[in-house]
Amino acid sequence: MDCLFCKIIKGQIPSSKVYEDDMVYAFKDINPMAPVHVLIVPKMHLSGMSDITAENSAVVAHIFEVASKLAKELGISENGYRVVSNCGADAGQTVFHLHFHLLGGKKLNVEMC
Ligand code: AMP
Ligand code: ZN
Repeated sequence: MDCLFCKIIKGQIPSSKVYEDDMVYAFKDINPMAPVHVLIVPKMHLSGMSDITAENSAVVAHIFEVASKLAKELGISENGYRVVSNCGADAGQTVFHLHFHLLGGKKLNVEMC
């Protein structure tokens, strides 16, 4: 499958890895919007939020567990951070492999949309 993030997970395209386990891969966003901008993705290919079902949602719970852990390790947990997933055209999704942006390290815009 021609998926950028599947290729990153397999190491076929380089990335700045932040964390990896058997279910998820996390790496620095190539175009950071904040001092800390990490993408957390499931290793299984899901095209986005719309692909989440009762059968696969355990990986999403795990991603949030990892987000909380990474926020602490990256030093943004105390001041605060945001976790975002863009789904579809109106949200501006550009890569169609489910991913969660972990953003922090500055005062983030209060307006979310
Ligand atoms: P989205 O717009 O929510 O689909 O987010 C896709 C994100 O992937 C954007 O923030 C991009 O900067 C990021 N991105 C695209 N290509 C790469 C890459 N090769 N390595 C790291 N991040 C990437
Ligand atoms: Zn993929």
